[in-house]
Amino acid sequence: MAIIPIRVVPDPILRQKSKRVRTIDGSIRKLISDMIETMHYIHAAGLAAPQVGIPLRVIVIGIPEKGDIVLINPEVVRRKGECLVDEGCLSVPDYRGEIMRAESVTVKGRDQNWKEIRIKADGLLAQALEHEIDHLNGVLYIDQLESMDKLRKIEPEEIQL
Ligand SMILES: [Zn+2]
Repeated sequence: MAIIPIRVVPDPILRQKSKRVRTIDGSIRKLISDMIETMHYIHAAGLAAPQVGIPLRVIVIGIPEKGDIVLINPEVVRRKGECLVDEGCLSVPDYRGEIMRAESVTVKGRDQNWKEIRIKADGLLAQALEHEIDHLNGVLYIDQLESMDKLRKIEPEEIQL
């Protein structure tokens, strides 16, 4: 296992569309365990593979009381409602901003055993799922802001995705 440094803007890998994973092998298993270890080490609530320099469609989410979630080739299949949320990203260090997210989402994908799974989520989990899946498409939350002046400096205890 290893802690992997997080890529930050303007690293071009963050703007790339990540590739689908075709099958689980040793390198994907290692990527997943490194991502989980890194996420916990830096106290993040989620991480997408391009943030650790690997342009593959893999995300991990670690929200207290939900356990660690691993999703391979995740897709949002349903979005419901809209709400204004406060969001931050490890790849845009030290800042946060307010953007619109779905109130609830349904996401499908595969877990670390290549089993198909479907997750219905609201609140922080829904926000984290949308945020991490955006990363796989080269999208950052700051793309939703009218200007970078809308960002504010982060407080140390705030959640990063
Ligand atoms: Zn992020």
